Amino acid sequence: MATATKERSVIVTLRVKVDGKWRRLPAAYGGNGRIRPGYAQVGDEQVEFAGPAYELRLYEDRQAKYIPFKSGATDADAERKKLEKSPSKTAAKNAAESAGGTFVDKEDRQTLARTAAAYIRDAQQRGAMEAADQARLVNEEFRKLLNRKTYVDEITRDDIFKFHTALRKRGCSDRTVANKHQRLTSWLRFAGIDKTILPPVPKYEETLPTIYTSDEITTLLAEAAPYMKMSILLALKCGLRDQELMHLEFSDLNLADKTLRVQGKPRWNFKVKTHEQRHVPIPNDVLDELKAWKEKRTGQSLILGTKNGNPNTKLLFALKTLARRAKMNCGRCEGCKAKRRECETFTLHKFRRSYITTLLRNGIDLRTVQAYAGHKDIASTMRYLRPASAKEAQGKLNSVVW
Ligand SMILES: [Zn+2]
Repeated sequence: MATATKERSVIVTLRVKVDGKWRRLPAAYGGNGRIRPGYAQVGDEQVEFAGPAYELRLYEDRQAKYIPFKSGATDADAERKKLEKSPSKTAAKNAAESAGGTFVDKEDRQTLARTAAAYIRDAQQRGAMEAADQARLVNEEFRKLLNRKTYVDEITRDDIFKFHTALRKRGCSDRTVANKHQRLTSWLRFAGIDKTILPPVPKYEETLPTIYTSDEITTLLAEAAPYMKMSILLALKCGLRDQELMHLEFSDLNLADKTLRVQGKPRWNFKVKTHEQRHVPIPNDVLDELKAWKEKRTGQSLILGTKNGNPNTKLLFALKTLARRAKMNCGRCEGCKAKRRECETFTLHKFRRSYITTLLRNGIDLRTVQAYAGHKDIASTMRYLRPASAKEAQGKLNSVVW
């Protein structure tokens, strides 16, 4: 194998006129090893030239390259030493290839950490806060799985499959796995990964969001104490998310306009999911309940706060307790089988899904429902479009004028 010195050399040359022709001559060195400014080596002799131009002659990959050098001989020689010390790309490449590896130029290699930070910053600069948050999450989850990998080009197809498996293990639905896969690959493409290693988006069945039946809602409301009743009504008839429900204040209500405003609460470090405020209409029955509730809650700012005036983080468990007491548990899920018998089929979010579905089914247009639900894109709202059952369609069908 050829040695690096044979593959690559750097010398200082003088560009000088000899007998009326431009020539390049190697620089001359003194006995002390120092370059002799103004002198060129011609055969055995060192010849002086007045005010020569210096160049560096870089020989690499069987090609000579001349780098003009404006300052004097000493600087040119210092640069030569630097170039000589810097590892030769060719030598490194040969060594890597003979060892069966691939040589990648160091400055071209993207690190996972740097590209992730750039990707998140890019989303932030576009004002895509939700995307930025998601990118951060996916990034953390993915990088935890990698065994000390630093560079983007170290990522394999297997790493991505490992990511899918880890997500499923912690209970993510197929739909969530597909979403996270898309976020992950979007970052990796941004980071310049070899696209051919990326597996396709995992398939998932588009299932309809589960909702409460009207019988279930009737029973729950009938069994609920005033506090839970207020909670259910706000979730079901105003479509609030769990966190929005917990942080709703009396000052967010506009009783004259019959609307409420969903907004962030920096005091509790609560941000609305899409980072957008929205106004939601309050149905008359909920409005009456809210007015009566307000009378009972003097001195409280949060509508569903705890006695100490803090957001109630146990709202979900209160709902599960209500379902159990009302003997509505499904009896089949993991939650029902566990000691506390907290049925998985009862969630606050299911009220919100019931809200969106009911609005759409009652003919409220998609754009309006999207705005009330606070969905960032219409596709999220469209998931809730579902054909009504034959029984449900009966009434409407009978009122159709043929
Ligand atoms: Zn259950």
